[in-house]
Amino acid sequence: MIISGPCGVESEKQVHEIAGELSKLNVHLLRGGIWKPRSRPDSFQGIGSEGLRWLKAAGIKNNLPVTVEVASPKHVEEALREKIDILWIGARTTVNPFLVQEIADALKGVNVPVMIKNPINPELELWIGAMERIDKAGIQHIAAIHRGFSTYEKTKYRNVPNWQIPIELKRRYPGLPLICDPSHICGTRELISSVSQTALDLNYDGLMIESHSNPDQALSDSQQQLTPSALKDLLANLVVRSAVIEDVIFRNLLEELREKIDSLDEDILNNISKRMEVAREIGKYKKENNITILQVQRWNEILRTRLQFGMDHELTREFILKMYELIHDESILQQTQMMNRKPVDIKQYTIDNEKHS
Ligand code: PEP
Ligand code: MN
Repeated sequence: MIISGPCGVESEKQVHEIAGELSKLNVHLLRGGIWKPRSRPDSFQGIGSEGLRWLKAAGIKNNLPVTVEVASPKHVEEALREKIDILWIGARTTVNPFLVQEIADALKGVNVPVMIKNPINPELELWIGAMERIDKAGIQHIAAIHRGFSTYEKTKYRNVPNWQIPIELKRRYPGLPLICDPSHICGTRELISSVSQTALDLNYDGLMIESHSNPDQALSDSQQQLTPSALKDLLANLVVRSAVIEDVIFRNLLEELREKIDSLDEDILNNISKRMEVAREIGKYKKENNITILQVQRWNEILRTRLQFGMDHELTREFILKMYELIHDESILQQTQMMNRKPVDIKQYTIDNEKHS
């Protein structure tokens, strides 16, 4: 399912023009922000209520259902009055359970599909909580939109995808439709196609991509909106893969490869467990000799040599760093637990250990 349209509805002419162009593409739902949650008060705050009518009329004329963002009970009421087909809750609203509850209360007894964007911060429970509130209000059709997460770190994305969060959501709720919003993840046009492809490869159910007939003149998010013709090219180049494997030979090959992965994973966990065993042993000696757990020089040495080794073996720097930080944290935890054991436990530990080896 492809959702597209401008970040914000700006004028009657603009919304009719883009709707006309999108209706010629494979777009199923026309989006357009009416009330825009902007960081600064001097930027374009959205055209407001009158835009609802323009958007709906452009949708009817071009045979497209329409969707808008709602951030308050008043927005819900106005959007429903203008027969907006689908509502969505934005990232800045999902973070606030009070607001989500007010919206949920306004939706009681109403039959309208609602899409819920992830909260700005990478917190799966908050996202799920918002969907539960809307679900409890009796809304039958709910979808999740993944639009990336805010971070203070400098990255190539406007909002980092943190793919593991939507993947975990999908694992817990396999039936929940999951839509990716590459526009707000990327923040720039160049990255949109590769993020869209990743979403399809992860078996997402749809994409929400911002578009504008003249993106550079757009009153909000001008850097990330595509022209209809760029959107057309992007959609034509996406590869839709199947989640079910029909070819028997390929399925057998995949089975074999998965078995290899299973056995390698077992080796990894066995080795990590052995490594922790040694860490506890070291903890014991550090305690006996009364020295601190953290030895910065040693940690630097580990990082340096493992980075070199890993990168020589085609692993990325970021991956090795993250993995060693986790391993090191766990080693320190295990050593600390060992250090804080009473001497009698340590004696017992040594005996147990000797029994094992
Ligand atoms: C939008 O879709 O234009 C928008 C404001 O999105 P988000 O809530 O993801 O920031
Ligand atoms: Mn936007």
